[in-house]
Amino acid sequence: MRPDTAPAVLTIDLGAIVANWRLLQAKHSSGATGAVVKADGYGLGAGPVAAALAAAGCKHFFVATPDEALELRKTIPDAALVVLGGLFAGADHDFAAHRIIPALGSLAEIDAWSSLARRLDRALPAFLHFDTGMSRLGLDAREYAVLAEDHGRLTGIDIRHVMSHLVSAEAPDDPLNAIQRDRFNAGRARLPAAPASLVNSAGMFLGKTFAFDLARPGSALYGINPTPGRPNPMRPTVSLAARVLSVRDIPPRATVGYTASWTAQRASRIATVGVGYADGWHRSHSNAGSAYFDGHPVPLVGRVSMDLTTFDVTDHPEVQPGTWLEFLGPHRLVDDAARDAGTIGYEVLTALGRRFHRVCSPA
Ligand SMILES: *Cc1c(COP(=O)(O)O)cnc(C)c1O
Repeated sequence: MRPDTAPAVLTIDLGAIVANWRLLQAKHSSGATGAVVKADGYGLGAGPVAAALAAAGCKHFFVATPDEALELRKTIPDAALVVLGGLFAGADHDFAAHRIIPALGSLAEIDAWSSLARRLDRALPAFLHFDTGMSRLGLDAREYAVLAEDHGRLTGIDIRHVMSHLVSAEAPDDPLNAIQRDRFNAGRARLPAAPASLVNSAGMFLGKTFAFDLARPGSALYGINPTPGRPNPMRPTVSLAARVLSVRDIPPRATVGYTASWTAQRASRIATVGVGYADGWHRSHSNAGSAYFDGHPVPLVGRVSMDLTTFDVTDHPEVQPGTWLEFLGPHRLVDDAARDAGTIGYEVLTALGRRFHRVCSPA
């Protein structure tokens, strides 16, 4: 897409992402800090993000699916590359051929990986994933007990790390955090010794007893606050600017957009912008929050439609067709937009659309 015709420009600050990784790494100086780049690097581009972080010294990368791993392998040929979703049935040969590390989450996956190791006659690397409370992926307590009694099932598997995942890391007072940590420690004690990995971004702020050997931050790298309710220690990494396509004057009592969900209370000026729910600016932003013009908020009015959003710019006569409005940027962080739309920053980022002109500022 040509920048001069794109309705919106998304700028991704790789330098800020690297700075965020360094800040987390300094915080976790007792161990290693990896980077979670699933979902195309939380929507910001797994390739450029991983290349910048690998150049900065990051050695562990996490994705969700085999396809994501195969795609990223070209960019980071030497890093440890872990698929959090586990050993997908039928993917085991691809994993082995490209040195992709599955986070094994069931006895069936362990058996499949071990038997492939025997057939290939070489050890294959893996993370072992235990469920300590998420009830999603990872060996459950019953499977865990079977494995603890029979380490032979791990024959041929080079356990790089044992891992688990916290349910409530953003809530430091939630007793579940300590319960999960204690279950994780008890479980590890019943297996062959291996390094451990428990925390995501927010978990890195829970204190030393949660840190273990390898941290797995994602959201904080991209600027989402890992300590909700407290000041955000991370740097913002994205800005989204969209240009006004049209401006019109409407009389009092005129309505704006589908379902006439907003009614002008006074003679108003409405600016229409070329960003809609097809660009990941979800309908939940309808009549919620603002964009910014020259540092001033302009309220989003009416429903977000597929390709368009509308703003009340009555108080800003300078806004004209071609004027740029800030959707995300210094005045409006990802977390702010998420709060206004009743969601979390993760969803705002991963939804950001493909029609934007994308610019990566260098690391
Ligand atoms: C997504 C994910 C992470 C990263 O979580 P953030 O909250 O984005 O830091 C870490 N570990 C696992 C298992 C995940 O699925």
